[in-house]
Amino acid sequence: MSEPETIKDISHKTGGIIAWMLDNKIKNEKGDPIEFRDHPFLYDIYLDQSPNLVVTKAAQVGLSTLEIFRNHYDAKMMKMDIIYTLPTDQDVSIFVGGKVNRIIANNPCMLEDTKDKDTIEQKAIGLSMEYFRGTWSKKAAIMITADRLVHDEKDSSKQDVIADFQARLQHSKFKQTHVFSHPSVPNNGVDMEWRISDQKEWFIECPHCKKEQYLSWNTEDPRKMSVNIETEEYICKKCGGVLSDDNRRHGRWVRKTNQPVKWSGYHVSMMMSPMHSAKSIVEKYNEVMNQKQTMDYFYNKILGLPYAGGGNSVSQDMILGRVTDETNQYNGRIVIGVDTGIKLRYVYGNKQGLLGYGECDDYTPDEVNKLPLEQTLEYFLKKFSNSIMVIDQGGDIYRK
Ligand SMILES: [Zn+2]
Repeated sequence: MSEPETIKDISHKTGGIIAWMLDNKIKNEKGDPIEFRDHPFLYDIYLDQSPNLVVTKAAQVGLSTLEIFRNHYDAKMMKMDIIYTLPTDQDVSIFVGGKVNRIIANNPCMLEDTKDKDTIEQKAIGLSMEYFRGTWSKKAAIMITADRLVHDEKDSSKQDVIADFQARLQHSKFKQTHVFSHPSVPNNGVDMEWRISDQKEWFIECPHCKKEQYLSWNTEDPRKMSVNIETEEYICKKCGGVLSDDNRRHGRWVRKTNQPVKWSGYHVSMMMSPMHSAKSIVEKYNEVMNQKQTMDYFYNKILGLPYAGGGNSVSQDMILGRVTDETNQYNGRIVIGVDTGIKLRYVYGNKQGLLGYGECDDYTPDEVNKLPLEQTLEYFLKKFSNSIMVIDQGGDIYRK
């Protein structure tokens, strides 16, 4: 009979993922060996064993690959059952067929671990199981328990289904949740966990003035701009000196807060990857300037930041993803937003969500319009005590 595992044994196992990858010469889906030289910022994320992990990220920075290896290793070594969600069933078949299965096929040790069951939706890994699910299908709410939930592309997923999955962790001794996604708009999707995390940024040191800083983008304020758009080089935000790829490689994660927080958070932008030159970032930015691409794309997919602005594109998925079966309890303050035009268009809701929308002809009943109270905006202020109305003052108020 084997001895019960001590915390030390377990931490040795979990920290052993790097050794496992090197010993087994683990390869990615293209058959190339995994390396950290051009992804130095991934190293600490691989080793982070916080039960709640959030990464707000740009596109193509190696996070999905990381999660595939972490899940495989932890499922095997820690005997964890894992549920991995993606927005749709189609996303699941593309991800598992095009990436997970190819990675498994390229690595004999992983092939051996999954020999008992290996389908698109379910894989045995040693004695554990990993399930892949889309959040938009009826099958989504599976009645299995898990030790870790991984929500990939949270911002395009169905939000109440994601929330329902939490109940699957109830009987686990691990109760882990990993969320990673490129962000969309502030306070939605991955940004919700990011805001309550320790918000780690990748700090590098300027070789010229020794100032530690993280790379950021701000065309309005040179003190916050790490790219010289003219010369297409990364530069120090303090002295303006040029930063080499090697300077960008040698960084460390720095927490924004030292308060104890529930979530361990990382922000990964394309700028911190030595594989992405300043020139390539400027090219993406110029596409926005030439109106071939939108600013929210640049912020979300290149900088890994949420974006709220005039050019925001809100997709149908984003709206439908937030529809829930929950009944609004009408708690707290009701806020009514009004867009003024020939008609007055309104929408009202509270912290729990939107309650309704519509349009009416005037603000208050008067002698001229002879409208009943219910057909004017004043009705809402009377109906909901303590409510607030926010009205666009620059609207088109011309009436025929
Ligand atoms: Zn400097």
